[in-house]
Amino acid sequence: MAPSGSSTHSRKSDKCPGCGAQLRSTRYDVGWDVVIPTKHCVQCGYNKTDEEMLASGLAKLRERMNASVKVVAIGDGLGIRFPKEIVDHYAIRKGGKVEIRPGRKRLEIVL
Ligand SMILES: [Zn+2]
Repeated sequence: MAPSGSSTHSRKSDKCPGCGAQLRSTRYDVGWDVVIPTKHCVQCGYNKTDEEMLASGLAKLRERMNASVKVVAIGDGLGIRFPKEIVDHYAIRKGGKVEIRPGRKRLEIVL
């Protein structure tokens, strides 16, 4: 028998795997009005985000980014103009370095 029988867990998914405290539902604002629901532990700071919600949220975010990037002339070359929201979101700085990974039909920019 347990000394203090306080085993009133309703849903096991609402418990923090780190400290066992009750997880609180919160929302992770990634910008562009895209908000991903997540569960947060106020005791140890653990975050649990639903993989599907995260994927769909990031897909939405990607859509908006796709629409707002422009290619501009820089000297005798071309550059990508990052909108202010993207600069802020990814903390891109003038003179900073990014890594470009070429694919067959896409370029990946790694910060
Ligand atoms: Zn916790």
